[in-house]
Amino acid sequence: MSELSKTGVHFSADYERHDTGPGHPESAHRYQVLSAALAALPPEIRRMESARRATVAEILLVHEHSYHDLVYRDTESLADFLRTGDTAICEHSYDVALEACGAMLTALDAVMAGELAAVFCAVRPPGHHATANRGMGFCVFNHVAIGARYLQARHGLGRIAIIDWDVHHGNGTEEIFIEDPSVLYISLHEEHIYPYTGSATNRGRGPGLGMNLNIPLPRHSAGMQALAAWDAQVGPAMDAFQPEFVLISAGFDARLDDPVGGLCWDDETFAEMTRRSAGYARQWSHGRLVSVLEGGYNPPGLASAAVAHVMALGQ
Ligand SMILES: [Zn+2]
Repeated sequence: MSELSKTGVHFSADYERHDTGPGHPESAHRYQVLSAALAALPPEIRRMESARRATVAEILLVHEHSYHDLVYRDTESLADFLRTGDTAICEHSYDVALEACGAMLTALDAVMAGELAAVFCAVRPPGHHATANRGMGFCVFNHVAIGARYLQARHGLGRIAIIDWDVHHGNGTEEIFIEDPSVLYISLHEEHIYPYTGSATNRGRGPGLGMNLNIPLPRHSAGMQALAAWDAQVGPAMDAFQPEFVLISAGFDARLDDPVGGLCWDDETFAEMTRRSAGYARQWSHGRLVSVLEGGYNPPGLASAAVAHVMALGQ
């Protein structure tokens, strides 16, 4: 049984070094507001410090070598954007992306060692739009995808489930695992918005057929609608798959009043999705769960939804 004292949270001012420029929604300010709220969590929630940066070899578990080198070179040349797409960068972005990924890997190791049951990693830049060879949508390296591969390569696990409730479809994660039967990718997202992927008809390809579950939701729909779709589709898929580890792409831009997303979920929606995810983890995965921050662009809303998420991890 998971409990609050086995719940961890990771955040660090280091991630504020990723400077996306004035007026950008994925801003250091957003992160500062979130960090202040996480710092005020009850002391039973354990703060996890990162042990290390991700290595290049770990990035290459998912990304092509040429893409890794492109991120390094674009950062070194002080470009404003990755040349592959709409991801603003600064001179520190390569380092910060490696630190973010390394923190998630630290969390995976801590959970696999039984030191913690569930950890929320509040990191940036986000990751779920990054494909094997293309950064886009504010994302550089795909943390959850690297995490899934790392659990398989380093810890010998087989079946990994990734639940993505960011308001945007995680096209990068989907593309990386589209033919892979060992990774179940589930995305709940707003339909007809960026990146314009995530059709319910895309169920995977080849050996991965049936391992990709997209649940597009109509603009302005509330959390009840998402939870009803969850009951009908996510629960049965998780029970059939029986994952050995649960990863969450935890975006909070589906929350009411987000300036980017158009859904109307409240904090209780995120708490309920968290309790359900932790329930699957307890049932199938010895309670092992790590969630990683993706979007969420109304700073106070992001903070309150993320706090609800962390508090529900141990419930
Ligand atoms: Zn998003």
